Parts: sequence; structure tokens; C-alpha cells
Amino acid sequence: MYEALSKYYSNAISISKLQINACAEIHNKGWNGDHSIWATSLCSDEVNFGFQHFNEKMAAPGPFILGGISGLPFVGKTGMKAFLSHVPTNGLALIVYGPHIGFTKDGLIGKVYRKNQQKPSSCCGSISAAVIAIRENHAGALDDPSDYQQTKVIQYLSMYKEEILQHENPILIATEKAYESIEENLNHILEESLPLFPGIRIGLIGGIQINTDFWGEDYFDIRRYEWIQN
Ligand SMILES: [Zn+2]
Repeated sequence: MYEALSKYYSNAISISKLQINACAEIHNKGWNGDHSIWATSLCSDEVNFGFQHFNEKMAAPGPFILGGISGLPFVGKTGMKAFLSHVPTNGLALIVYGPHIGFTKDGLIGKVYRKNQQKPSSCCGSISAAVIAIRENHAGALDDPSDYQQTKVIQYLSMYKEEILQHENPILIATEKAYESIEENLNHILEESLPLFPGIRIGLIGGIQINTDFWGEDYFDIRRYEWIQN
């Protein structure tokens, strides 16, 4: 684990360990992967989809994508209800959610080296761009239907403008605030959707996904790890 990464996320575990632990927990509860499907409310960035173990163990070829850029659950209640309606009989719906942040080997925060790129690029690009918009006071003028998701990201993070801009590393605190916004939105959507699906089980793994350079392992700093019988 890179030094800067362990400084800020000392409890983070590797993505592979996260998946193995979660699958073991599902198994220990007497449930099984064949009766489980999973969803993500993670940022659209392709670096966030290294969850092959989940894909292999569960009853569908991949996750239902609840999130858009930044990880906010942009599919809303309609998307959540669609996902929950796909859960096998007496089965489990696992939801992995949160924002992401990159760390490079040379200590840059909010960036990663991607394969065959000469320079590191933003990670999360959406949160990084939102921090710049907030700093430059562009947040108020936004109403661009061709950039709907980013408009929302900026609106949510603007609520923490002072805190973000005064922090020694704004991308770190903006990522924390993005986590809170994602969780709050997800809780709201779940509250409205779950009563329609009695009997299903829900697994919630919330946290901050930490990306490293393309050759390295990614990590997850768990903030919520909860199993619910609905
Ligand atoms: Zn992102």
C-alpha cells in the first residue's frame, strides 16, 4: 500500500479481500451466490469495476449500475425498483456504493496513472471538476441539461463549500462529503423502494474506493457493512 494512501486510509482492505469476505459472509448466513445479485452505486469510471469475484459468484453476469459520475445513485427509485425486482426468490441484493479517489506511486492524491498514458489523470474526475467549479464559483450558474449529472454533483458538494475549500487537501474532504451524499440518497431511495419487496435480503457495503496506478491493487475503506432481512 502506498505511503500516502495508508496515511489517510489505514483501515482500507484490498478489493479482492472485500469480495472474498463478503462472499464468505453470504455463505455463512446460509445464503448463496446463486440466489444473489449485486449492484453498484460507484462512479462510472472504468477503474471502478475490478470486482470479478462478485461477477463469478453471483447469479447475473455483472452488477446493476445504480450510480453515475461521482457514484451518486442517479437511476433513482425507478432504477432501484428494477434492480430489486430482479432478485432471485428468497435471495439477496448486495449493493456496493461510495465515491472513489486515486493515489499515485509518487504521492499524488486524486490522480492515477492509467495504462499507456504519459501523465496521471484525475480520479475521481467528477469530484475533482466539482472542487474546481466550487472554487471558481461556477456552481450557481449551472443548469446544463447536457451535463445533468455533474450539475447535481456540484450542487451537493457546494453545500460544503467552506469546509472543502479550507481543507489542506480539498479532494480528500470532497470525497468524504460525496460519500455522505451518496449514502443519504441511497437510504432515501431504499426507504421508498424496499416495502415493495418483502422477504428479500439486502447487503450494504458502503465506503470509499481507492484506486492506485493501473498495475496495482485497488482498496476499499469500509464505512458501512450491513445485512438486512427485509
Ligand atoms: Zn469518478
